[in-house]
Amino acid sequence: MRKTLKVDLKLKNKLDEKIYNFFTIISEVALKLKMKAYAVGGMVRDLIMDIPIKDIDIVIEGNAIEFAKEFSTIVGGKLIAHNEFKTASVIINGEKIDFATARQEYYDEISSGLPHVEESSLKLDLYRRDFTINTLAISLNENFGELIDYFGGVKDIKDKKIRILHNLSFIEDPTRVFRALRFAEKFNFLLGQQTEKLMKNALELGVLNTVSKNRLFLEFSLVLKEEKVVEILKKINDYKIFKYLHKEFYIDENCFNLINTGKDFVKMCTFFCPIEFRIEAIYFSILKFCFRKKFNLTNILGIVDSKIEKIYSQMIQINVFLSKRRKKSEIYFFLKPMALEAQIAAFAISKSNYVKEALISYIRDLQFIKPLVSGKDLITLGFKPSAIFGKILNDCFEKQIEGEFTSKQEAIDYIKNKYLN
Ligand code: ATP
Repeated sequence: MRKTLKVDLKLKNKLDEKIYNFFTIISEVALKLKMKAYAVGGMVRDLIMDIPIKDIDIVIEGNAIEFAKEFSTIVGGKLIAHNEFKTASVIINGEKIDFATARQEYYDEISSGLPHVEESSLKLDLYRRDFTINTLAISLNENFGELIDYFGGVKDIKDKKIRILHNLSFIEDPTRVFRALRFAEKFNFLLGQQTEKLMKNALELGVLNTVSKNRLFLEFSLVLKEEKVVEILKKINDYKIFKYLHKEFYIDENCFNLINTGKDFVKMCTFFCPIEFRIEAIYFSILKFCFRKKFNLTNILGIVDSKIEKIYSQMIQINVFLSKRRKKSEIYFFLKPMALEAQIAAFAISKSNYVKEALISYIRDLQFIKPLVSGKDLITLGFKPSAIFGKILNDCFEKQIEGEFTSKQEAIDYIKNKYLN
């Protein structure tokens, strides 16, 4: 029996009008294709908790790719299908909606080891999830807007509890250890008593060592992306979880201080350069630096892409470069090709005021300097395009960065004096 709750989610009020309209279209597609569609996961949880929703995940009882195709045709979105996973994403004006085919196979490992009688694909799909608070669904079918709660997710949200769905959950997927503490800290929830006990048992069994490095890093990087990164890492420390990965892995106060310094500097940088950057790369680099004498963090947690390793190495290079006093123009040309993440991490790990001042000056002012003189100006002055152009422009730009001239006329006069006489 499907457990639906007549909770008035006030979907129309709570959802952005655009998303609400997508949901009504999804509902029409479901009717047309004779499939069932449900909004699931974090989105429903966040809606109930009255916090802004991020991702939109739809589970389809039926073929999700066929469903997403029809939906994308109606809304004029871009379809990306992943045949091997029976999932698809539709991108509409930068908004992404993920469609997944409800997973049906499922064995109850705790009881008999025999397959459960299928109640509904949705229920089986939700049973595979990590915590009860993530198992809520909203029907987008005839009973549009009805909340489906098979596993007591609403009660756990009310009770502020993180609870797993079955006793083998942490054994089945040890990365849930990180997820449990991440959600607990993020929402200010507690682990359920049984959940906490089972988590500790699983850790004692060494389950974390059975996880592939990529998965471990992916889950750990979700921790590093959270606003409450420090609080979550402290929780992970409290449960001595890192020691199951390496006996010397424990984050000390000094390291937390560096992360906090990085966090504060991130705020300033977001203000001066409102560009997207990978916050997890900054904290990962700081952590890696803290542990460099004991072990290589990459070997322990794994890594998913080379960009993060590059950021770490740039962070080190920046600190080495700025260990000597440099001219402003040298700082400009050195930092220009470096990732902002590396600059922030370099700021965080440095104890030198000079390094910090140089980085602030680059991020706040230097990086925005635009050359006063261009190749066109040189042509106007009578130069014939040739290799000398680069030399003159560079020379001129360097002087400009050093503050030797502030107006274009001064720069042109300099060129005339030096190169035309
Ligand atoms: P957040 O808002 O922090 O991103 P989320 O719930 O959307 O939270 P995701 O990591 O994006 O978190 O996962 C999406 C959904 O996929 C979750 O709600 C959960 O149901 C499911 N999920 C993710 N990872 C696991 C896992 N390791 N085991 C079981 N279910 C998982």
